Amino acid sequence: MTTELSPSVYSLEGKSPFDLRLGQSASVAESAVKRALETGDMGFIHSFTTGSTVDGPGVRVVGWTAGCQWRCRYCHNPDTWSMINGMPVTLERAVSELGKYRHGLKAMSGGFTLSGGEPLMQDRFAVKLFTAAKAMGIHTAVETNGFLGERLTDEELLQIDLVLLGIKAWGAEKHRHLTGKDIEPTLDFARRLAARQRPVWVRFVLVPGLTDDPQDITLMAKFIAGLGNVERVEVLPFHQLGRFKWQNLGLDYTLADVKTPTPDLIESTCRLFRAEGLNAY
Ligand code: SF4
Repeated sequence: MTTELSPSVYSLEGKSPFDLRLGQSASVAESAVKRALETGDMGFIHSFTTGSTVDGPGVRVVGWTAGCQWRCRYCHNPDTWSMINGMPVTLERAVSELGKYRHGLKAMSGGFTLSGGEPLMQDRFAVKLFTAAKAMGIHTAVETNGFLGERLTDEELLQIDLVLLGIKAWGAEKHRHLTGKDIEPTLDFARRLAARQRPVWVRFVLVPGLTDDPQDITLMAKFIAGLGNVERVEVLPFHQLGRFKWQNLGLDYTLADVKTPTPDLIESTCRLFRAEGLNAY
């Protein structure tokens, strides 16, 4: 028998997004999943974590959504690729969970970030949750690869105070090699956010030998600088923290021998962004 809200062995709050969580909604009927995606009245969440200082301004609560159609070689949360690994959470429960933190978040100049996975796979749930958060006076941010940005109307974009936009690689072929998907929808979304003057932080994962070509980075930096609405570029050093998940899931991990970037490489990469007038950290 299938149920909409099966009891889960996991709690809603995770120790960190690096918890490996599988099959949390395996017993949810396909029709219920479809209805949830259409209405946004239920979401599929890997976990909520609190106290983050790296997913937007201030101290933040982060909701890690399940579901992503990309296959980035360095993804540290491949258990979030499948929606079935997310826990079914009603909108009501998610809003009430968030509400518990609203005073603290305001006091710490923080807010709520929806990350993933790819949150816009669950665009209706995301919009409803952001709208509720804004109504409680909570600053909102989405971390997205931008591929499904067209699912949000201009009106809905106003419910998101900050977009943390992942630009993964430069050049059509390199992007496809790294993520399995085309870069153009992401760039289109970036242009649209610029035209609407919505605040954006770009996130770029620096992987030695894969995304560290200075020419590519300069071209990316020129594109980002030309947008005019990007407040900062975050250069995120590649790490191996998600490696065990690939092994556990029986996935072919191609970056096992790749080292984390040296401080010198991180600094020289930041300088390439700064050379185009961007704030890069
Ligand atoms: S877009 Fe994010 S969640 Fe999706 S595969 Fe890439 S790194 Fe993983």
